[in-house]
Amino acid sequence: MLTAIAGINWGDEGKGRMVDLLSKNYDIVVRYQGGNNAGHTVINDRGKFILNLLPSGILREGTINILGPGMVIDVEHLYNEVEKLRKAGIVITPENLKISDRATICMPYHKLLDILEEDRLGDAKFGSTRRGIAPVYADKYMKKAFRMGDLLHFEAIKKKLPSVIEWKNLTVHGGYKAEELKAGDMALWLENYGLPFKDYICDTTQYLNNAIDEGKSVIFEAQLGALRDIDFGIYPYTSSSSTIAAYAPIGAGIPSRKLDCTIGIMKAYSSCVGEGPFTCELFGKEGDELREAGGEYGAATGRPRRVGGFDVPASRYGVTVQGADEIALTKLDVLSYLNTIPVCVAYNVDGKQTEAFPSGEALADAKPVYEYLEGWKSDISGCRSFGDLPEKAKEYILYIQKKVGCRIKYVSVGAGRDEYFVL
Ligand code: GDP
Ligand code: MG
Repeated sequence: MLTAIAGINWGDEGKGRMVDLLSKNYDIVVRYQGGNNAGHTVINDRGKFILNLLPSGILREGTINILGPGMVIDVEHLYNEVEKLRKAGIVITPENLKISDRATICMPYHKLLDILEEDRLGDAKFGSTRRGIAPVYADKYMKKAFRMGDLLHFEAIKKKLPSVIEWKNLTVHGGYKAEELKAGDMALWLENYGLPFKDYICDTTQYLNNAIDEGKSVIFEAQLGALRDIDFGIYPYTSSSSTIAAYAPIGAGIPSRKLDCTIGIMKAYSSCVGEGPFTCELFGKEGDELREAGGEYGAATGRPRRVGGFDVPASRYGVTVQGADEIALTKLDVLSYLNTIPVCVAYNVDGKQTEAFPSGEALADAKPVYEYLEGWKSDISGCRSFGDLPEKAKEYILYIQKKVGCRIKYVSVGAGRDEYFVL
C-alpha cells in the first residue's frame, strides 16, 4: 500500500499527527519535499514533538524513515533535531533513518540569502520562514547545489566549493554588501554537521523499490498544503516545492510507482502563516478568539497564524489538486465555543459570486461570502464515534463533506494520538 498524506489547505492542517496515527499500519514513512520550514506537531505517549526535517514515523519503534531526494536538508538543523530527539529517548540509527544521496543540502548561505532578501523587501516581504528554502531550491534548479551523496566524496566537495562560493559572493557580498563568504568555513560546516550522517546516506530509491517489491507499505508525508504548492498554490506566496500528492513518488525517489491512496488532511477552519491572499480571513475579536481556541501559532517559527472560517472554494480546489481519495478532518473540537460557525461558501470576484478558486490578481481582489451554521456549544473532545457527536457537529461534518465532494473518513477532536474517530 502506497499512501500519500498531504495538506488540503495552507499547511498546518495536522499532517504530523495523522502520520503519527496512521503509521501504525505502515512500514516506511518518507518525507518527499520541503525542508526544515516544516513544523509537524505530534503528541503521543512518548511526549510532545515538533518535527522539522524528520518524518513523523520516527517516533514509532520499528518504522523506517526516509528523507527523500525531493527534500532540502540543512544538516546543522538535522544534527540538532536528531540530538534533541535522542535526549527525549528516541533511538535514531541508520537502521530507522535513511537519507537519500540525491537530497539537496541547504547551506548557511541559503539561509543568509533568505534573510537578506526578506529584509530588503521590508513591508513587501513574502513571510518566509527565513530558513533558506527558496534560495536552495533555486540553486538546485541552477544545478549549483550540493547533494547529500556528495558528502561521501568530501574531496570533490572541497574542490567544487571555491567556484560556488565565488558565485555566491557576487550576490551576498557584491549585491547585498554582506560579509564575504569563505569556502573554508563552508567546508568546516559540512564536516561538522554533514559528515556525522555519512552512514545514513544511501540510495534510497533502490532501498524503497526493493522494500515495495517485498510487499512493504509506505506513507509519503507532505509538508505544507495544496495552496502553497509552487505551481498550483497562491504564487508567489507559495513554498518553493511541489506539495501535492502527485509529486510524492518523484520526491520520494520512486517515480515509476503509483499511489494507491491519497489522504487529504483538512482543517475544520482555516489558518495561514505568512503573507499572501487569504480570502476567508477573520479579523478583530472573531479572529483572535479562533486563534486562541486553536492555538494557532507557527510550530516552526512561533508566529501567530492568520485564521478564518472553513473556506469552501479553497478547500474544494485543494481536494481536487491533491486528488484526495479520502479526507481527515482535523481540529473539529476547536469550533466548540462558537454559537454560530462562520463558513466562507463562495468568493466575490469582479462583482460575480463564484465557488471556483481563482489565481493571481483575481484571487488578491476576491471577497469572501460568509454563511453561518449553528454551533453545538459543547465539549466533543471525548467523542470516539460519529454517533457520539451532537447533532449540529454531525451536520457540520456532512455539510463540509458535501461541499468539498470527498469522503471524510477520519475526524480528529484533540491533538493526542487517540483523540479521533473513523466515520
Ligand atoms: P502540520 O504542519 O500539518 O503537521 O500541523 P501543525 O503541527 O503545524 O499544526 C497542527 C496543530 O494542531 C498542532 O499543534 C497539533 O498538536 C494540533 N492538533 C492536531 N489535531 C488536532 C485536533 O484534532 N484538535 C486540536 N485541538 N488540536 C489538534
Ligand atoms: Mg505545521
